[in-house]
Amino acid sequence: MALVVQKYGGSSVADGEKIMNVARRIARTSQDGNRVVTVVSAMGDTTDELLELAYNVSDSPSSRELDVLLSTGEIVSSTLLAMALKSLGEQSISLTGAQAGIRTDNSYSRARIMNIDPKRIIKELEKGNIVIVAGFQGINDDMDTTTLGRGGSDTTAVALAISLKAEKCEIYTDVQGVYTADPRIVSQAVKLDEIGYEEMLEMSTYGAKVMHPRAVELGQIYGVPILVASSFMDKPGTLIHGGISMEGRNKVTGIAHDLNVAKITILGVPDKPGIAAAIFERLAGAGISVDTIVQNASTENITDLTFTIAKSDLGPAMEIVKPLAAEIGARDFVSDSGVGKVSIIGTGIQNTPGFAAKMFTALSRESINIMLISTSEIRITCIIKEDRVKDAIRALHKAFELEQA
Ligand code: ASP
Ligand code: MG
Repeated sequence: MALVVQKYGGSSVADGEKIMNVARRIARTSQDGNRVVTVVSAMGDTTDELLELAYNVSDSPSSRELDVLLSTGEIVSSTLLAMALKSLGEQSISLTGAQAGIRTDNSYSRARIMNIDPKRIIKELEKGNIVIVAGFQGINDDMDTTTLGRGGSDTTAVALAISLKAEKCEIYTDVQGVYTADPRIVSQAVKLDEIGYEEMLEMSTYGAKVMHPRAVELGQIYGVPILVASSFMDKPGTLIHGGISMEGRNKVTGIAHDLNVAKITILGVPDKPGIAAAIFERLAGAGISVDTIVQNASTENITDLTFTIAKSDLGPAMEIVKPLAAEIGARDFVSDSGVGKVSIIGTGIQNTPGFAAKMFTALSRESINIMLISTSEIRITCIIKEDRVKDAIRALHKAFELEQA
């Protein structure tokens, strides 16, 4: 009997009817002779609504209480799904993250899974139950509930697939798979049949919402293939795996974009050792992750330092930069929250000249100004004005002929 781990996202369990639809799909998988462990997200926008409730009663809610509160969203959907399965005549039980044996570190709201003890899950499977696990949560050494960060149910699912030695992890969502670009922006976007872990990791880190980057990373480390497919249709989806053929590799695989970006420039910074360390240490200390960093080549030992962060971190980042700029003797600082990122991704970019030139040419033809550029071995990212991001994606999709993917 094969063991299947499936995950259903929030939009797939948004109301009673959708939960029944998911229950029917799970029942079919079980009737096909599989043992099934399902991970669910909270219904629809529940997590956002719970967050709003918390901020209605407090400007800085206790992180411990906040994690317990947010974890309830997934508990609601998991219990309803177990009830729905029973109403279809299937044996089923829901488990919280703690009951499922998911142990994490202590960092509330962005906890990392330390280990999983799958005893209880295995016991329930042996009793013939379909096991429904509440995603996005675990328990720390003090038995307090922790959450894994927004979108963390994907990580729960992949981690469970690893721990239970499932053949693959299936992620069911409201789109048919991973596309060459966001199909809501580019009508010619093509669904990919497969994509490598590395490329998917860059895609999701640089804005593709379909999978959580940490889940892709886990899949890559343990070599667990991940299928991303629609929960509403019976279509093949996209398989994320490691064994991609070398053929046809010298091209761009996809375009990712991110609108949750802000840019900070510290002007007239003395060019001496320790300045960058001071700035980025303090930002890191506040849990703010910095992405693209650009420092001008200095003239007369004065330089400008620009970096990007998530737009949602701009407020707290400026609280840090303000006093710091004075401390380090910077002339001034400015911020811009009207920026976005567009990236081309493909293993073919590696060691192949011409991709950057083609990207910049396509953007310049649309009169799109590039503010910052960052690259990895398999990615080129341009920071541009937020209101030109859609034009940029369309121009790049065409320039790299992704409609023929
Ligand atoms: N419900 C959580 C969120 O909205 C976790 C998830 O959906 O994966 O971020
Ligand atoms: Mg969600």
